[in-house]
Amino acid sequence: MSTVWLKPGRETAVSKGHPWIFSGAIERIEPTTQDIPPGETVDVLDWEGNFLMRGAYSPSSQIRIRKWTTNPDETIDRDFFSRKLQRALQLRIDLSQLLMTNAMRLVHAESDGLPGLIVDRYGDTLVLQCLTAGIERWRSTIFELLVELTECARIYERSDADVRKLEGLGERVGRIYGDEPPELILIEDKGVKFAVDVRRGQKTGFYLDQRANRHFVSEITKNKKVLDCFSYTGGFTIFSLLGGAEEVIAIDSSSSALELARRNLALNSFDGKKVKLIVGDVFRLLREYRDRGEEFDVIILDPPKFAPTIAQAQRATRAYKDINLLAFKLLRADGLLITFSCSGGIREELFQKVVAGAAEDAAVEGRILSRLHQSADHPVALNFPEGAYVKGFLIAK
Ligand code: SAH
Repeated sequence: MSTVWLKPGRETAVSKGHPWIFSGAIERIEPTTQDIPPGETVDVLDWEGNFLMRGAYSPSSQIRIRKWTTNPDETIDRDFFSRKLQRALQLRIDLSQLLMTNAMRLVHAESDGLPGLIVDRYGDTLVLQCLTAGIERWRSTIFELLVELTECARIYERSDADVRKLEGLGERVGRIYGDEPPELILIEDKGVKFAVDVRRGQKTGFYLDQRANRHFVSEITKNKKVLDCFSYTGGFTIFSLLGGAEEVIAIDSSSSALELARRNLALNSFDGKKVKLIVGDVFRLLREYRDRGEEFDVIILDPPKFAPTIAQAQRATRAYKDINLLAFKLLRADGLLITFSCSGGIREELFQKVVAGAAEDAAVEGRILSRLHQSADHPVALNFPEGAYVKGFLIAK
């Protein structure tokens, strides 16, 4: 096994439990004679030679090493992954009362001690994403263990996320265990049905991370006129209707997402006349509504991640400010804004500043009534604040 020595002072974050080591923190690697293959296990020492952690090496990524363990006696082998997976699965079993659904995230990467591994469950189908060289190295062990440890009928792989490129990995999509998944998988969340397309849908097919926030929205939409921006397959739209909304307009740029939203409305027997599904660009349509003098009681903004990493944060803040400013203008005097950012590159504090700036420019005071985060099946390890990627505010105008 190769040994990585860090530069003096660069051990602080790791010794506090942070799971990443950036390439710039590395002083030298021993032995110097050979390249370390992607995903290989390495030991990390501080500049004085004290053991810090054992992790997976990613030669192409700025995040060069990701933590497996800080225990020098723990071997990284099949049993290690078995222990980690069992722990993640047990947590979801313990949460099942709270989650009330047959669709949930079973493994949430760093925050379940498995950097780069996402496993989502939709009924008896598991959808797997391997996002790092380390997970790629252990891929077959992991899916064998998932078959053993869960009662899934099939596993489908959606390793087609952009972040794989940073790891020097290509796309891999397809069935890895059991039969081909059906065209659409039916899931149920708090009694509401959704059809999920795990093969062609975004991410692994559904935005499981917003589940609790959709439930929350259903509490504030009675008799309201709601604008659901970036609606995807209608999650917030359907929960708004469940809460008694009088009218909902849902906008998304993807016609296939809205097609599925239409099916989801029918699945739950909602009155289609109350809903308008509009294929279009939110930035353009919000301007059109403003020019026409339209008004709404509740506006939901759930855009895609404009800043996947810190590098894109500046451009992204302009986009967030733009849509939030327009939303403030479109809200009735007593209206409510539910605004989200799921950008890893933008922390909650910065997001609040951006929304405050938008309110100021719209001449709105604005008060945060509630802070919203990802659902409980997407935990955040205490020493990994980057894991808290969904941040949202319920704001009264
Ligand atoms: N609110 C959704 C998830 C939203 S994901 C849910 O609860 O499931 C972000 C969505 O924004 C995607 O469906 C994507 O197709 C859409 N999108 C991206 N850019 C857009 C734009 N400029 N205008 C409208 N929709 C856009």
